Amino acid sequence: MDKNDNGEKITSINEIESNIGIYRFIYNMELAFINYFRQLLKQNGYEDKLWITQSSCDVILKMLRQEYAFLEKAESSSRQQSQKDLVTAFKRYFKHDLKSHYPVLKKRKNTQKFTFRIMNNNNNIRIQKDKNGYYKIKLAKLGLVKFKTSKEYKKLLLKGSNPNDESVKIKHVVVKRVNDKYYAVFNIECIHVPVKIIGPKQQLGIDIGCSKLAVFSNSKEIPNLNLEKETEKIIQYQKMMSHHKKDSNRYKKAKKLYHKWMRKLVNKRNDYYDKITTCIVENACFIAVQNENIIAWKHNKFLSRKLQLNAPRNFMDKIEYKSQWNNIGFVKVSKNFPSTQTCSKCRKINSNVGGIGNLGIRDWICPKCGTHHNRDVNAAINILNNGLEIVGTTMQ
Ligand SMILES: [Zn+2]
Repeated sequence: MDKNDNGEKITSINEIESNIGIYRFIYNMELAFINYFRQLLKQNGYEDKLWITQSSCDVILKMLRQEYAFLEKAESSSRQQSQKDLVTAFKRYFKHDLKSHYPVLKKRKNTQKFTFRIMNNNNNIRIQKDKNGYYKIKLAKLGLVKFKTSKEYKKLLLKGSNPNDESVKIKHVVVKRVNDKYYAVFNIECIHVPVKIIGPKQQLGIDIGCSKLAVFSNSKEIPNLNLEKETEKIIQYQKMMSHHKKDSNRYKKAKKLYHKWMRKLVNKRNDYYDKITTCIVENACFIAVQNENIIAWKHNKFLSRKLQLNAPRNFMDKIEYKSQWNNIGFVKVSKNFPSTQTCSKCRKINSNVGGIGNLGIRDWICPKCGTHHNRDVNAAINILNNGLEIVGTTMQ
């Protein structure tokens, strides 16, 4: 066990791995015990109807802890988590009339992805400076861990680490290993989210598009993130994987790199979406969006690739839950509403403009009132108007 000059414990990957190992050990031992017990029942001619509950597993865990001293090294909440997962697996098995898979032993080989959870009791999970003045995450018994995050999240975590700050609370942390990378996922409760007011708050209609990420009813727009490099690499390694035999060393190497670039892409995109949606919600007092195109796009060969990369659904969900956090009116306009074809001035429907076939038309002139429309801005205005109508009708 490493300690620095201040007597603070510094954790290593080995220790995180040993926690993951203990998780697996408890899961497997309890399962083996249950299996053994079921076999005994069968051999003695009893009906095999053994219900696995939390309390029956508690008894087994207690026995295991007496037998194996090393289990005490693990976090108590991560010990509990392992057991909870086993009980859930059994519940699922029983619920589907025994048709669902019977829980199986967890093998070291099959655990590409692994997690354990530590609950925050008495501020035992926090961010603090080490003796050199660098911020580290303190994970209860595990000690201090180096980490990387964006400035905004660090601020949030620092608030959560301060016991005098009531606005943010760290509830628990999940330590995750995905393809040999370790992540700490914090579950944070914001009691009061202070919203920065940058200008007068606006009612916003948002047209989520393919060529641009979003176009607003106030004619501002947000471009798509440039993911060309990531995409290129992903396709490259995907091809390499298909050319090599499965389980060969080259295949494994390509797979590892494929996952690396996939991870980069997803992280980059999430970060971008998070920043933008926060900014949108901070500046709006009412938001209407339409998810019209998303399903139709899927059947289009060229658009579906773009769709996969840009994940507009993900973007919309972020706006939705952030609106809820900040008590901002949020409406999803029906996908059948012809937002693109309708003239936002006179409401004449111009069917020549809509549909995937006409995506090339960027602007058009209304045949009835002669207004010149930008295709996406016009759609966003219609979405806003329709959203306001929906709220109006439901409020009566
Ligand atoms: Zn018109």
